[in-house]
Amino acid sequence: MAENTANQNLFQLTLREARDLIKKEGSEALLKSLNARIESVNPKINAVVRFDPAKYNPGKGSGPLANVPISFKDNICIHGRETTCASKILAGHVPPYDATVVDKLKRAGAHIYAQCNMDEFAFGSSCETSTYGPTRNPWNTEYVPGGSSGGSAAAVASDMAIAALGSDTGGSIRQPAALCGVVGLKPTYGRVSRYGLIAFGSSFDQIGPLTKTVEDSALLLNVLAGHDERDSTSLEQPVPDYTESLGRDVKGMRIGLPKEYFDAEGIDPEVEKSVRAGADLLKKKGAELVTVSLPHTEYAVAVYYIVAVAEASSNLGRFDGVQYGARTKAQDLKTMYLETRDAGFGEEAKRRILLGTFVLSAGYYDAYYLQGQKVRTLVREDFEAAFKEVDLLLGPTSPTAAFKIGEKAQDPLAMYLSDILTIPANLSGIPAISIPCGLTSRGLPIGLQLMAAPFDEAKIFTAAYALEQEIGMYKQRPKL
Ligand code: GLN
Repeated sequence: MAENTANQNLFQLTLREARDLIKKEGSEALLKSLNARIESVNPKINAVVRFDPAKYNPGKGSGPLANVPISFKDNICIHGRETTCASKILAGHVPPYDATVVDKLKRAGAHIYAQCNMDEFAFGSSCETSTYGPTRNPWNTEYVPGGSSGGSAAAVASDMAIAALGSDTGGSIRQPAALCGVVGLKPTYGRVSRYGLIAFGSSFDQIGPLTKTVEDSALLLNVLAGHDERDSTSLEQPVPDYTESLGRDVKGMRIGLPKEYFDAEGIDPEVEKSVRAGADLLKKKGAELVTVSLPHTEYAVAVYYIVAVAEASSNLGRFDGVQYGARTKAQDLKTMYLETRDAGFGEEAKRRILLGTFVLSAGYYDAYYLQGQKVRTLVREDFEAAFKEVDLLLGPTSPTAAFKIGEKAQDPLAMYLSDILTIPANLSGIPAISIPCGLTSRGLPIGLQLMAAPFDEAKIFTAAYALEQEIGMYKQRPKL
């Protein structure tokens, strides 16, 4: 991004540039530009679902992100603002509290800005299951932006957001980041508090940033990371200044290329080529490339769709028309529950509730859920072994670039397979980033994924920043 902010549209600024501009001149001009951008571009993309510039004035913030506008996936609770997970069942749900990440951003002075579209309850890889209608990929509006944080990714890619938060249960930050050509980070499980994130799979979910650059990702993680007594799965690990890892030398870093991430069925040769070229750039800068094996990768999707749906079915049990959101009127309580849930949940949510209830039911629990947890351990042990040999693992984020809207909507299995390369990090709790590494011949972005051992986000930032500077994709924006 150009250093000279005078010559560019302010909505194009990165988070760091926006922060610096606001320090000098306040946020008024930037907000005007960003608001106008949403008015003109959102009708084509449908990435922003709630945005009311008149109602939500910026705070008079001070702090590291003073008055910088940040957008949110619609499953992160914001005090006093409707938050629905893009589901009919949560229509009218206004949380009486802030998620910890929102609270932390407010304390850092940030302006809590727009709310972004998503797959209903974060179930999906295409942003097509939202009650607000599909989000479109800014690079080509006939294509999906990925999901489930597709609204956050598309908003950043189309300059309707300076930066946004998403959530990643099986790839929902990284896969849409890849398909939209932005940077998406899933932190280590326990690095960022999940308090106030409407739960999908509690042992997988992590909140993380979607940004225009790696530097912006580090700046946001600085604010988001840390222990929270309201989330017992958040861990007490010191939070380093992640920006210090930017610009460090990658010389001597050992980078593993998991052969299963390049050989797997369905990997588009264009994607493979571009990701390998990214790996070679790191080698040119002095990193050492080694081939490694993660032998249980092939089981990851199957295990995920047992354990994650089990957790989802249990988490969604609370939406029954009594405490949250919409209610269907009925003669008696049981009918009210049934009719509210029938009218409120979409097709994919119902599929997952049924599957999850099945794998948890007496008689099947041992055969599916328990067995799934055992295989999950094997997947995690693959990573533990690999990280004894290497500092980072590198591969594609997604087997293909964006697919067409409607292409996989009727085929849940094909949709599930688009997360084959992101799910293993969630099963193991490790951190992973997706950065743009090129465009396909059709002009669609390709994502490169870097994974590290738990709490090694700093190493990810070092390598991702070095690559980003070489590749220079952050300078390219879709034409809208
Ligand atoms: N696409 C995956 C799913 O449908 C992952 C979703 C997510 O990470 N929230 O479950």
